[in-house]
Amino acid sequence: MTSVVERLRGESPKFSVEFLPPRDAEDEKVLWKAVRELEGLDPAFVSITYGAGGSRRDRTIRATGRIAQETTLLPVAHLTAVEHSVAELRNVIGWYAAIGVRNILALRGDPPGDPMGEWVAHPEGLSYADELVRLVRELGDFCVGVAAFPYGHPRSGDLDTDLKFLLRKLNAGADYAVAQLFHAPEPFLRMRDRVAAAGCSAAILPGIMPMLSPRGLAKIVELSGADLPLEVSRRLEPYADDVAGFRATGIDIATEMCQRLLDEGVPALHFYTMNRSKATKEVLGRLGLVTRA
Ligand code: FAD
Repeated sequence: MTSVVERLRGESPKFSVEFLPPRDAEDEKVLWKAVRELEGLDPAFVSITYGAGGSRRDRTIRATGRIAQETTLLPVAHLTAVEHSVAELRNVIGWYAAIGVRNILALRGDPPGDPMGEWVAHPEGLSYADELVRLVRELGDFCVGVAAFPYGHPRSGDLDTDLKFLLRKLNAGADYAVAQLFHAPEPFLRMRDRVAAAGCSAAILPGIMPMLSPRGLAKIVELSGADLPLEVSRRLEPYADDVAGFRATGIDIATEMCQRLLDEGVPALHFYTMNRSKATKEVLGRLGLVTRA
């Protein structure tokens, strides 16, 4: 199976997408509709998040396996260290290998329940993502990605400390990083440039989620860990009660940000899809990245 790094090679900019594992049969239909619609646009890879708790984790493994076996897509399985012993992590990694998945996004994860609650490592587990990167690498020929935080991880005291830990993960053997959501290109570009200036050539992919509704916007602000820039909130404000106007402006803002990132030479745009394809297709079509979008 090819690797993410191989797929990112070449001059032309690429895109990739993130899916969530389905919670029930209805969710499963929604996911597969998006998978099939985006498959035709040839994303560089599709990543599937890893949930907390046994049944959610099984669904991640199942969905990732189906994508590997029933589609032309390159799946990237997310994996977290939450509540796992090293033996269990080895087991999950072995499962991925057995179903033909050779691309893993290695994450520490958050404490179940409250993401900002106290992190307690499993007594026979791992404490940080760099340890998981090493473990995955040890177990075979995997291409490994890690998470990056343009505004700094919420638990990091400052950006310098955050950069130090990002570099530690990359130097532990990660091939690339995918960034958390952000709503202005500069913090992402500064982070990317600082990684390069530190001598690390790993690709850092920007994480994109168009702002399609006030509720979606609140989620983006929460996940990014940073307030919306004034010029963005000014553009969206007039559409607080206009569903279509808000969505159209959100797509405009996302397209403009993606264009700037492409102009700055990012190798690919990573879209957080929430298992929907429409907004991703619209932005890609506007950017001229896919002819059929
Ligand atoms: P780490 O890199 O281990 O960092 C955790 C914290 O510890 C940071 O504050 C870091 O600065 C600090 N730190 C790191 N190394 C050290 C060290 N050696 N000593 C001291 N401090 C250190 N969560 C899920 O549950 N499932 C998913 O599928 C998932 N997918 C994600 C995908 C992306 C692209 C992103 C950006 C996030 C995702 N998350 C997911 C969320 C992620 O698990 C959390 O943000 C988590 O808090 C951090 O994970 P990490 O891998 O960055 O951890």
